[in-house]
Amino acid sequence: MYGSDAIHYPQDEMNTVLLPVTSGCIYNKCLFCSMYKDEEYSEVSFSDIEMQLMNTDTYTEKLFLVGSDPMSIGFEKMKQLLDMIHLHLPYCARVASYAAIRSIFKYSVEELSILHDAGLRLLYIGFETGRDDILKLMNKGHTVEQAIQQARKLNEANLPFNSIVMYGIAGEGESVNNAIATAKMINQFTTEKFITMNLVVMEGSRLREMVQNHEYIPSGRRERLIEIRTFLENLEPKQPMLFDTTHPTNLVRMFGTLPDERRRLIREIRNHIEVHSN
Ligand code: SF4
Repeated sequence: MYGSDAIHYPQDEMNTVLLPVTSGCIYNKCLFCSMYKDEEYSEVSFSDIEMQLMNTDTYTEKLFLVGSDPMSIGFEKMKQLLDMIHLHLPYCARVASYAAIRSIFKYSVEELSILHDAGLRLLYIGFETGRDDILKLMNKGHTVEQAIQQARKLNEANLPFNSIVMYGIAGEGESVNNAIATAKMINQFTTEKFITMNLVVMEGSRLREMVQNHEYIPSGRRERLIEIRTFLENLEPKQPMLFDTTHPTNLVRMFGTLPDERRRLIREIRNHIEVHSN
């Protein structure tokens, strides 16, 4: 049933039951990513999914849809999938999934609301950056304005989501500006959690070639720590938002709620900046 041996899921879902829905990446064009480079995109058949559900503990409460972007299967299939989950796992209170901005485009607010009522309770979305030039450079496939529009649609549908951003992505000398623009984008909507990842120049990625050809210069450690501080200084959530740098790629592990714990978090990151130099 699985298209590859590697299964990618958010660390918050470490103890969640995993249900493969797609393998490979339907887009597969982000410059920094080589996760699914040699894998063809395919959808797991509903008969395979049903078989897996029949073999899952009936009392499962949380489920994560495995795939780079399961929302890409569209409304009809998502609704059918959630109904199937409910049928076999009647106690499942929360289905979560990755989702790309490009896929949320396909759904109306009403459809998103129907999916929420059918059990879809959390999305993880890779916004990466609030700068259009960097989104374009990285071939992410959406613009800042499109990201804001789709995020607001989710807010309107009351479908909660976590926002994943990537520091270091703008390259040397661009990090402060990137953090300000990214915070400005995130401030335009409501998100449960601001999750940071640190840019890793992956083996086999197009970005790796650009670094080798001196077409892209990655920022240093100190600049990246300053980028994290700049996020903290500029994020102004309208309601409490978790700030989470605990993903394994991160340079430092911090966790807290904004705006209440802003001062404590800034103090922590300042200490890290003082300790580390380039
Ligand atoms: S970052 Fe996500 S959308 Fe982009 S190529 Fe990788 S898996 Fe696909």
